[in-house]
Amino acid sequence: MKKVPESEEELKKRLTPEQYEVCFLKGTEAPFTGKYLYNKEKGIYECVVCGNELFSSEDKFESGTGWPSFTKAIIGKNVKLKDDFSHGMHRIEVVCGKCNAHLGHVFDDGPKPTCKRYCINSVALNFKKKK
Ligand code: FE
Repeated sequence: MKKVPESEEELKKRLTPEQYEVCFLKGTEAPFTGKYLYNKEKGIYECVVCGNELFSSEDKFESGTGWPSFTKAIIGKNVKLKDDFSHGMHRIEVVCGKCNAHLGHVFDDGPKPTCKRYCINSVALNFKKKK
């Protein structure tokens, strides 16, 4: 587990430019390009920055949007939700509960029972396959 907070310089050194762009400049990977979009293996998706366990393969579903989608976080407090008024709309931003890295957004059009769709950038995640 990495110690947080790290300096901007340390983060830039450790992360790829794409990871830094998404996690700290709230970037979005292009749809249908993320490496975990079609991943169906069993395991845990961790924060690429700090290793915090965020999502389980059991809650992953095919949303058709082009980004990995989940019905819930592994543990609610492992992610934080924030109002996001950028781009002239109101969305709920999802960030890592531990290091505040930007992960994606959550919408209310997911499948039952949660009806949530956590729309998450592959780039912000690191997949740990279940042993
Ligand atoms: Fe994190």
